[in-house]
Amino acid sequence: MSDFETLMFSPMPPLVVEGVAACSRLHKLWEAADREATLAEIAPRIRGIATGGGHATMGGDVLARFPKLEIVSSFGVGYDHIDATWAGKHGIVVANTPDVLNDEVADTTFGLLLSVVRQLPQADRYLREGRWLKAPFPLTASLRGRTMGILGLGRIGRTIARRAEAFGMKVVYHGRRAQDDAPYLYYPTLAGMARACDILVAITPGGPETKNLVNAEVLDALGPNGIFINVARGSVCDQDALIAALRDRKILSAGLDVYADEPNVPRELIEMEHVVLLPHVGSGTKHTRDAMGQLVVDNLRSFISGRGPLTPVAETPWPATRRAP
Ligand code: NDP
Repeated sequence: MSDFETLMFSPMPPLVVEGVAACSRLHKLWEAADREATLAEIAPRIRGIATGGGHATMGGDVLARFPKLEIVSSFGVGYDHIDATWAGKHGIVVANTPDVLNDEVADTTFGLLLSVVRQLPQADRYLREGRWLKAPFPLTASLRGRTMGILGLGRIGRTIARRAEAFGMKVVYHGRRAQDDAPYLYYPTLAGMARACDILVAITPGGPETKNLVNAEVLDALGPNGIFINVARGSVCDQDALIAALRDRKILSAGLDVYADEPNVPRELIEMEHVVLLPHVGSGTKHTRDAMGQLVVDNLRSFISGRGPLTPVAETPWPATRRAP
């Protein structure tokens, strides 16, 4: 058994718990009778933390409790719940689980988009309520002739773009910079891109840099035929502005997988018949969650064996963050 001590704050999938326990001495904080007393006792020895997926928020104040901490291995590609900048400055590497979920999230995005544009959940409800017996379901909007604007043409954004091309859509994108190898038109401003497209898909990271990027001005620019799809983070969109734009029909509709204060979804959205709402299920299949869990374990195992993390995040490049012995 390795003498490397790892902490888990709350239960993770069995594959992760078993994998981490097999390569290090795992402390399961949720099993402690007195959480604070246990933390005080083990914190000076903890060198690894496994976390993620809606678990503890880890700002510098939390990370600073572990003076020997070397790695945080996080479940999920988004890591806005961890202060990675603080970690990088203090010699702690943060690893996430990129790429293994690209296809799943892109599939969910298209499921959501088709649900919105063709009103598939509404049509299902219509049939179940016996209303088809009285009249056919009304005609809906269409994907034909539409332009998709992607906010965040990264790993998942590009996977969504390829699906959009297969659906016959024109694709454009916005990010902080143009990408030389991207075969799509770049817009240097989000409002400019919103004016040029009629489906806006948000797939950036969350956190302070992207907070409320999709605001009233952007939604206005998207226009009355516009559809907003958010599979990024709730924080990327000004939720009150979105509710107002939907209520006042400034945009046609929205499909949301993420919200400002999950799992709480505003009543105004729930009561709107013309939106489709998913409970943050972008990567939520057994296949993909297993692949993500395995990468949490593999990052930790590789680190403990001295080969470094497999997928460190940009703020904590390896070996630049390696702690002096
Ligand atoms: P990447 O880092 O590969 O891509 C992120 C993209 O966002 C980049 O193209 C980047 O472009 C752009 N971006 C970053 N900051 C800004 C900014 N301030 N303004 C405009 N664009 C910005 O990440 P992934 O594609 O792997 O994942 C993206 C996000 O998707 C995750 O961080 C997570 O929040 C979300 N996600 C949601 C899931 C769900 O269940 N709904 C599941 C998985 C991920 P540039 O650097 O040029 O600005």
